Amino acid sequence: GRKVILSEPGNFPTDLYVLQGLAAFAGDVELRTVPADQIAEALDDSVALLLLTQVHYKSGRLHDMAALTARAHEVGALALWDLSHSAGALAVDLNGCGADLAVGCGYKYLNGGPGAPAFAFVARRHHEAFRSPLSGWMGHARPFEFVDAYEPGQGLARALCGTPPVLGMTALEAALEAFDGVDMGQIRAKSMALGDLFLELVEQRCAGHGFEIACPRDARARGSQVALAHREGYAIMQALIAREVIGDFRAPDILRFGFTPLYVRHVDVWEAVERLVQVMESGQWREARFHQKAAVT
Ligand SMILES: *Cc1c(COP(=O)(O)O)cnc(C)c1O
Repeated sequence: GRKVILSEPGNFPTDLYVLQGLAAFAGDVELRTVPADQIAEALDDSVALLLLTQVHYKSGRLHDMAALTARAHEVGALALWDLSHSAGALAVDLNGCGADLAVGCGYKYLNGGPGAPAFAFVARRHHEAFRSPLSGWMGHARPFEFVDAYEPGQGLARALCGTPPVLGMTALEAALEAFDGVDMGQIRAKSMALGDLFLELVEQRCAGHGFEIACPRDARARGSQVALAHREGYAIMQALIAREVIGDFRAPDILRFGFTPLYVRHVDVWEAVERLVQVMESGQWREARFHQKAAVT
């Protein structure tokens, strides 16, 4: 009976676009966005679903998943978490937080490579009621009977749609094996140390070059990425990539650096900042070739 889906402005585009697509398709859906610090208040009994990305893709800010899920449940709403920037970077306790639904991609901190398969989580208590709008043959209870009438499979198998992308899954499987026996607490500790080191070095070595820190300074409030803001961010990142330090640029002015704790070392962070200093001190970012806008930034 409820029609409001609550999210925040500036959430990752697909999260908002898919909801806009749903609203255009299903009609009786209202997408409401309120700034991150007002979400708890905005949760009222008109809200059907809270949809948030746990670690913001641009700022790296970390939401309190347990508290916001509890608040959503208090008003009778469901909570869906996008874990694209969480999975592989920090311990995520979906059941401990009482999360209802979650999604995420396999190609960030899980290292599955571009276009790696995504994942979905549906709490067991919802398995019976859960229906995928994409009712393809692989989600059927008995796909190899090839019957005309759709009947959802058991448990999460009903979330499947078509033939699994086996090549992509093979790469992702190998990437996940690298996590075998790894303690996520240690991963998180190293991730926080790498981010802190990067920010300290930028503060020490890049002062006067016009950078601003655009992510939480406190590692506990941050995912495994840091963001710097600079008017010339695009060209600076291009010049840095030419020096083999690969971060990315997110409009309008954010340089984003992700630290994959499994294999990024402290010395790599030190070296990255050193090359950033070289780009700034040499003024190399001013070269015309670094100002040409590419399709992928
Ligand atoms: C990267 C990312 C995705 C992944 O989208 P794809 O369509 O799989 O490329 C989804 N949500 C968030 C928050 C992301 O950062």
